Amino acid sequence: MKNFSFQPIVKLLSLLPSIGPKSARRIAITLAKEKKITTSFIQQLTLINENVKSCKICNNLSFFQHCEICEDSLRDKNQICVVSDISNLWAIENIGVYEGVFHVLESSNILEENQYIENELKKRITDDHQEFILALNPTIEGQATIHYIKSILKEFHNVTVTSLSLGIPIGSDLDYLDSGTITIALESRKEL
Ligand SMILES: [Zn+2]
Repeated sequence: MKNFSFQPIVKLLSLLPSIGPKSARRIAITLAKEKKITTSFIQQLTLINENVKSCKICNNLSFFQHCEICEDSLRDKNQICVVSDISNLWAIENIGVYEGVFHVLESSNILEENQYIENELKKRITDDHQEFILALNPTIEGQATIHYIKSILKEFHNVTVTSLSLGIPIGSDLDYLDSGTITIALESRKEL
C-alpha cells in the first residue's frame, strides 16, 4: 500500500454536483481528521448504497418498492405532478402545500427516451378523472417536454393537463427557486 494521498478521495468528491476541486480538498481534509463524521458518513452511504431503489410507481427514491408519498393514503392519487428529476420533486415537496403525488421523468434526453417516458406515463392513467401538473423547468428542453407530454395525454378524455404558471424566469431550475415562487406557480397553474 502506498502512502496516504488525498488524490483518490478528492477525485471522487469532484464527481459530485456543485463540488469543485477546492471544496473537494476541504471536504477530504475534514473526512481525514473528523473520524466521527466520517464513520457516520460511511454508515449512511452504505445504507443508501445497499437499500435505496426507485419507487415502482413514481421513480422517487425509496427503501421499499413504493415510496412514502405513493404509500400515503392522505395523498390525492388523481393529482400527479410531473417533474424532471428527484431534486425538483423535493423542491416542491419541501414547500409543504402540495397534496397530490408525483411522477419523476428521470430522463435528461426526452428525444432519445420518449418511448420509455410515454410507457411510464400511460401506466399512471386510471379510469378516474386525473390532473397531470407539468412542473418542468422553464428551459427549452422543459418546454419541449411539456408539448410532448401534452401530445401523449390528449387522447385521454378523463385527463386534464396543467402547467405551472411561470412568472418563473426562463432558463431557471425549480430547485433554485424560493418556496413562495413555487407555491404561486403551483396555485395559479393553467390548463394547457
Ligand atoms: Zn412513489
